[in-house]
Amino acid sequence: MAEKRFAKRMWHASSNAIREILKVTERPEVISFAGGLPAPSSFPVATIKKMAAEILAEDGPVVLQYGTTEGYWPLREAIAEWVKVKGIEASPEQILVLSGSQQGIDLMGKAFLDAGDRVIVEEPAYLAAIQIFRSYEAELVPVKGDEEGYDPGALERALKEHQPKLIYLVSTFHNPTGITYSLERRKKVAELAAKYDCYVIEDDPYGDLRYSGDRVQALQTFNPERVVYLGSFSKIIAPGLRIGYAVAHNPEIRQKLVIGKQGADVHTSNLSQRIVHSFLSQGLLPDHIDSICQDYKAKRDLMLAGLEEHFPAGAKWVRPDGGLFLWVTLPEGISAVDVFPRAIEENVAFVPGAPFFARGGGENTLRLNFSNASFDQLKTGCARLGKVLKEFLD
Ligand code: PMP
Repeated sequence: MAEKRFAKRMWHASSNAIREILKVTERPEVISFAGGLPAPSSFPVATIKKMAAEILAEDGPVVLQYGTTEGYWPLREAIAEWVKVKGIEASPEQILVLSGSQQGIDLMGKAFLDAGDRVIVEEPAYLAAIQIFRSYEAELVPVKGDEEGYDPGALERALKEHQPKLIYLVSTFHNPTGITYSLERRKKVAELAAKYDCYVIEDDPYGDLRYSGDRVQALQTFNPERVVYLGSFSKIIAPGLRIGYAVAHNPEIRQKLVIGKQGADVHTSNLSQRIVHSFLSQGLLPDHIDSICQDYKAKRDLMLAGLEEHFPAGAKWVRPDGGLFLWVTLPEGISAVDVFPRAIEENVAFVPGAPFFARGGGENTLRLNFSNASFDQLKTGCARLGKVLKEFLD
């Protein structure tokens, strides 16, 4: 079909680079560190089966009927309680249930962005967020950071120069870098957003997966009117339920999000909402998260040990306190895209880092996922990848 029959905003939209890579990695002999998938063994299948049967037996016709766009009220109440551990004080009205937190990024884009509007994103940034903002024809302004988050000087210069409408960030256990914003940087971002009349999307799908260090209160708490917090149950129950939420204190923003969601999907699956509500109201989540964290902590440590043992000198990586990813930087001049086909020949896969850089660069970086592979695969995969990297680095 002639490309020009599509809307202009889609002309240059290519398929998500990671999805393309995942196709190559579907061969069973390939050990994949490429995706961002939770371990299937972490899914509480039996509990969900029992809950679904009970919910349908008790309330089948209501659950199968249309629901409200804002979400199932008891779930909104339960989430208002749940977010207290993040330091967030919110009423149930201020919680909107979403079909995954990704929908929140999209609805914020829909609510705020006209063609040519600017959005500050991290460099590197979550790939799907880059794609979403591009689909609204926004101009992306990547700003560099370090292991504590956005560099405050660079962020202020970008705010002054580009007058963006939105700042997007992943505050805890960043995808792809694994870093966590320090308390000081959280305060600073909130302060700068107010100074330059800008709004913030705090995307936090990984915050509950902590294996070391102490929790840092949500950035949202430093300016609840300007920061919309996005949370998710994808990584702590199951992504297939598609339950996320927004905490939006600002009633005007909330109204725009609700209008956007009406057009997008009317409402989030009632059955999924009721299942997540059962988890929260029965108090099952803290123990469940503990068991996931035990497993992922061991996997993180195994991968870190594997990198230490097998990777050549010159490769560096971030040691994350949680989440699902390790971020590796190779020496300048070595392209992870060139390494990729050799790695596939050796039956191991990763994601080259370049697509996470909104304005190019990052060719010498790559992302490794440690949650989805088994312990044996982690050991073997690190050895295979180390061997390939040595060919390029020696
Ligand atoms: N934000 C980030 C940073 C993510 O990594 C993901 C999951 N890949 C999402 C949002 C989307 O998560 P959900 O399943 O809640 O839509």
